Amino acid sequence: MLHWNNPKFFFNYKNNHPLGSRILLWILIFSLSFTFISTTIQLYYDYRKEVAQIESRFELIRSGYVDSLAKSLWDLDREQVRVQLEGVLNFPDIRFLKLESSIWSENIILGSVPQNSDFVDDSSRFELIHHTPLKGDQLLGTLFVNIDYDAVYGRLWGTGLITVFSNTLFIFLISIALMIIVQLKVTRYLEAMALYTRQIGRGEENGSLELKHKPRSARPDELDQVVDAINEMRSAILQDIIRREQDQEKLLYSRDQLQEIVKRRTESLQSAKEVAETADKAKSQFLATMSHEIRTPLNGVIGMAQLLLNSELDGKNREYIEGIYQSSTILLETLNNVLDYAKLVEGVHIPESVAFRIDELSKSVALLFTPLATEKNLSLNVNIDPAVHNMCYGSVGALRQILSNLLANALKFTQEGSVEISVSPVWLYEGKQRVCFQVEDTGIGIPDVLQTRIFERFTQADESITRRFGGTGLGLAICKKMVDSLGGKMGVKSEEGKGSRFWFELTLDTQEDISADQAGISMSNSSSTAIRVMGAIEPNTPSKDHAVGVYKKSRPLHVLLVEDVSINRQVAEAFLSLEGYEVFCVVDGKEALEITQDQKFDLILMDVHLPEMSGVEVCQYIRESHSVNTDTPIIALTASVQPKEVEQYKRAGMRLSCP
Ligand code: ADP
Repeated sequence: MLHWNNPKFFFNYKNNHPLGSRILLWILIFSLSFTFISTTIQLYYDYRKEVAQIESRFELIRSGYVDSLAKSLWDLDREQVRVQLEGVLNFPDIRFLKLESSIWSENIILGSVPQNSDFVDDSSRFELIHHTPLKGDQLLGTLFVNIDYDAVYGRLWGTGLITVFSNTLFIFLISIALMIIVQLKVTRYLEAMALYTRQIGRGEENGSLELKHKPRSARPDELDQVVDAINEMRSAILQDIIRREQDQEKLLYSRDQLQEIVKRRTESLQSAKEVAETADKAKSQFLATMSHEIRTPLNGVIGMAQLLLNSELDGKNREYIEGIYQSSTILLETLNNVLDYAKLVEGVHIPESVAFRIDELSKSVALLFTPLATEKNLSLNVNIDPAVHNMCYGSVGALRQILSNLLANALKFTQEGSVEISVSPVWLYEGKQRVCFQVEDTGIGIPDVLQTRIFERFTQADESITRRFGGTGLGLAICKKMVDSLGGKMGVKSEEGKGSRFWFELTLDTQEDISADQAGISMSNSSSTAIRVMGAIEPNTPSKDHAVGVYKKSRPLHVLLVEDVSINRQVAEAFLSLEGYEVFCVVDGKEALEITQDQKFDLILMDVHLPEMSGVEVCQYIRESHSVNTDTPIIALTASVQPKEVEQYKRAGMRLSCP
């Protein structure tokens, strides 16, 4: 804090107390103006007073001295004249006197005459006239009285200056006093109030406002009223804050409640979802297991029926056995669809990607259905656009399944005419091509309204068709799901009574063209009930074409069949024997390991699900045994073909065959 005698005090005061300094300034301006005006008026009246005094002195000279001077002149009493003139000179403010008279040659001058003074102009003149009864009035001379106006003005200025100075000083002191009073009585309280309201604005809690050094009077003055107003405002703000805090607390509480409810709901939904998922999985698992369990004996029935059909039978018995064979085949197809559905619920399984040729794939699928087409007297064609890049890399297993489903449907719903598989390119760019596969038939067609719905699960055109053609309504749903998973799209164009064209397009990686043998595709790829061999077998035995592969060999293949289910074992053994193979059967892994120790086989067909020791373990033992069969091809016989399982079989040294 600066002391008042520091020059900066006033500047600081101005900055810190702008209101006080402004009041001071206005007081000073008004007071000084008033002082100036009042001093001017005062001076004017003083001046008028001086002039009046000079006038009264002249009057006194006229009345008291002029006649007696004329008398002395008449008497020629020079001494008397001089005495009288000195009496006049004694009047205040008279600078000098001059008497001009024709009586005396020289003038009488008293007082100090300034150098450049002009008597006549600057002085007041009095005529000295003497009256005689005989001659009447006679002018004896003239008296010039010169007034010292400099002294008069000097006096006036002096008085004026003293007045101005004293008034200014007085006013200044009064202003300072006023300023102090304003500061003490108003400004500091205003500042305290401003500080307080600012603190409230910042949310600082300070209790109610009380002005220091200001006792509250019985009748509240303006400052007290402002203090009351601020305190009322403060309590209103506080109440508002408290209300808002309460509201916020309520809100937070409601939010927490809501969160709790949402959490509980989410948890119950989650557990409901988990329960539903578990139930769904259990259902799928149950379906898969049941299908599998039913399919095993069914395969036995079909196999046995096939074997019987290959034997000598009379007409009636052949008819019965054919009935058994056809019914069990339909049952197997339905079961396969149920199994596919179970897989669909668990998530679509897309077989792994391999290199393949599009033409080979299309032709092999067509080849599978040629017997059916021939049976129904339908022409089955494959049409590959020459612009298609044949050698590709992708999930050929999925493509095969989709094409097979579409072709099976086409043949199923066509009674006359033709069915055609066609493949055309959409675009080919930088190692990729978009290909469109189409399966077109001249069958019963699909009504417009159903064309989008048939891709949904369990959807069939209508009941009469279901009754006539059977089916589960799952095939197209599985195809669509697979195409979607491969990043493609699928659709149908159909006209009722004229035919249908199912299409799907997807993007495949292109590869350099290599021969069909290297592409991993076997022309003998078969339907789900046939056995597929992937890979080559030593070309040293069979003599004729067979379902397993096309191999020209000099002696029958020596095959070990490891299968615990006796019906499967019997069927497989019978088929293989029928085809001319030498088959040796064992029922579990232990027996398999024993026999492979010293007997050399050309091929081992290994059931994966064996009791005690699984087919995978048996395979591992054989591979590690350094026996005669260490390098013998071992083919897995299984329906468990999830990628992880397949990977496991391969790691163990197996090749894969799907029943
Ligand atoms: P499913 O054939 O087992 O009934 P899909 O999903 O394969 O099941 O087919 C669903 C329905 O679509 C069939 O029931 C049939 O009504 C219709 N459909 C499929 N393909 C054709 C086709 N090529 N011609 C006429 N209708 C077809």
